Amino acid sequence: MSFIKVENLSAKYDTSKRSVHALDDVSFFLESGESVGIAGESACGKTTLGLSMIRMIPGGKIESGSILFEGKPILDLSESEFDKNYRWKKIAMIFQGAMNSLDPVFTIKDQFVEILKQHHYKGDFDKLILDAVASVSLDESVLKKYPHELSGGMKQRIVIAMALLLKPKFVIADEPTTALDVLVQAQIINLLKKLKKSGMSIMLISHDLAIISEIAEKIGIMYAGQLVEFGKSSDIFKNPKHPYTQGILESIPTLRENKKPKFIKGIPPNLAEPQSGCRFIERCPHAMEKCKKEPPKLKTDSGYVMCWLYE
Ligand code: SF4
Repeated sequence: MSFIKVENLSAKYDTSKRSVHALDDVSFFLESGESVGIAGESACGKTTLGLSMIRMIPGGKIESGSILFEGKPILDLSESEFDKNYRWKKIAMIFQGAMNSLDPVFTIKDQFVEILKQHHYKGDFDKLILDAVASVSLDESVLKKYPHELSGGMKQRIVIAMALLLKPKFVIADEPTTALDVLVQAQIINLLKKLKKSGMSIMLISHDLAIISEIAEKIGIMYAGQLVEFGKSSDIFKNPKHPYTQGILESIPTLRENKKPKFIKGIPPNLAEPQSGCRFIERCPHAMEKCKKEPPKLKTDSGYVMCWLYE
C-alpha cells in the first residue's frame, strides 16, 4: 500500500461565464517517507494540486479522481470528518506567501493559539507550541513578538512551525523559498531537509528544479494542468523524457559547461478552452500528426510520461 496514491485527479474553477480546468487527470504515488517536487511554469496547476490534497480550493472544486492517504480514500470523507481527522493533523500546508499574512496586531503566540482553537485541540497548548518553535530552530522568545519584529527568514520559519503544529505526516510546501534572499533560502532548504530526515513526507511545489533536487526523491512535471512526467528525480534529471521536461532543464543556466541556456518558445494554452490532443503541441519541436490525439500515460522505469514519442 502506497503512503499516498493520487489517481486521475481533476479540478476546476467556475466563473459566471466559463470553467477553468486547472487540474486534469493527475496521477502519482509516494511511499512512506518519500517526498515529491512539483515543478512547472506559473499557472500550470501546481498550487491547485497542493490545495486539492487538503481539500481546500478557494473558488474551485475537485471534479473527479481519488486520493488515497495511507489507503483511505480521503475525498470520500465528509467535510467534518476530513477536518477533524486529517486537515492539519495528518496533512498540512505551508501556503505561498503566508509569511506576509501573519496578523500584525497579534503576537506570534496568539496566532499559534488561534490555530489550536480552530482545530479544537484539547491538550497542552504551551508544550505543543514550544515543540513546534523548537522544530524550526527558533528560540521561544519569538512567541512574545509581533510579526514586524521578525526578519523574513524568521517569519517563514514561524509559518512552517504553524504547519507542523499538530505533527502531520505529510506537508505541502508551496514555493516556501520564493521572495527570500539566497542565504535565507539556504536556511529554509536545510530546515526542510531536517524535517524530511525526521520521517515527514513533503510535497515541494516550486518553479526551481535546483531546490527540488535537494529535497525530493520524486518529481512531477506539470504543464497546462497535466502531470506530463512523473518519476524518480535521479531518472528525470539524468534522462528527461517529455520534451517539456527537456526544455525546462535546458533553460537552467550552468557555470560548469559553456552552454547557453535555451528557452521554450510560445506560451501555454488557455485552460478555459483546453484543446484536444497534446497540450504542448504548439511549442514542441517533435510534434507529429498523432500528437493531435490525447497522449497516453506511458510507463517509464519509475513512473510515467505523457508523450507519443515513447509509444
Ligand atoms: Fe511533443 Fe507530441 Fe510528445 Fe506532445 S505528444 S510532447 S507534441 S512529441
